[in-house]
Amino acid sequence: MDFLALPAFNDNYIWIFHDGVEAAVVDPGDCAPVLAALDRLKLRLAAILVTHHHQDHVGGLAGLRARFDVPVYAPALESIPGPCIAVTGGDSVLAIGSRFEVIDVPGHTRGHIAYLHRPADDTQAPVLFCGDTLFSGGCGRLFEGTPQQMHDSLQRLAGLPGNTRVCCAHEYTLSNLKFAQAVEPDSAALKDYTRWCEQQRAEGLPTLPARIATERAVNPFLRCEVATVINAAKRHGSTSDDPVDVFAALRQWKNEFR
Ligand code: ZN
Ligand code: FE
Repeated sequence: MDFLALPAFNDNYIWIFHDGVEAAVVDPGDCAPVLAALDRLKLRLAAILVTHHHQDHVGGLAGLRARFDVPVYAPALESIPGPCIAVTGGDSVLAIGSRFEVIDVPGHTRGHIAYLHRPADDTQAPVLFCGDTLFSGGCGRLFEGTPQQMHDSLQRLAGLPGNTRVCCAHEYTLSNLKFAQAVEPDSAALKDYTRWCEQQRAEGLPTLPARIATERAVNPFLRCEVATVINAAKRHGSTSDDPVDVFAALRQWKNEFR
């Protein structure tokens, strides 16, 4: 399975994966870049996977349905335009011969889901499509969920194998890392990763897919049990060492961070 990120709008990525003949697309907010990529790579669309209901993730559904009659997998708890196959945590989706586990990751939205592919073959890494839940160096805003829900969702993703490729839906990495540096100014891992990401962006390349192991090392939202992070959160409203309180304070601090 090959996968690539199609840039859309200002900072979205629409992920496409394919076997050389058929393709599946994740969160097509716009149909134009998807149709162009299918044309360019001579692929036939076979499935659409949706993580949550926001327009920048579903806006291209109508345009793709007009061209292809394909199944659209979407979160059972959210209303997505057009006929969908409703899926929820524990379900699995078969797309172009690859099986995906559905993981519930509420927080950004009420019914947000992620899709995880675990290859049978050990030489390949798992691939995670996580929409707007986990970003490299950060996480989605809490529009419909609670800090407890989002913290639990992120912990579920942080527990995946370290080599898991993290295909997030936005290129927010550099601004996330600026915030991460405010939280952990002395982190060498963070400095190294930031340097690498800056280089990628300078060359016009995505910083994604990220890796779970890297995220565990640099993403403050996955590090709510680390003393430095707890102490930084306490300077920004957290009143305890409880990871959910720490997470809530970090998320609030990040909302106001420039
Ligand atoms: Zn969203
Ligand atoms: Fe989004």
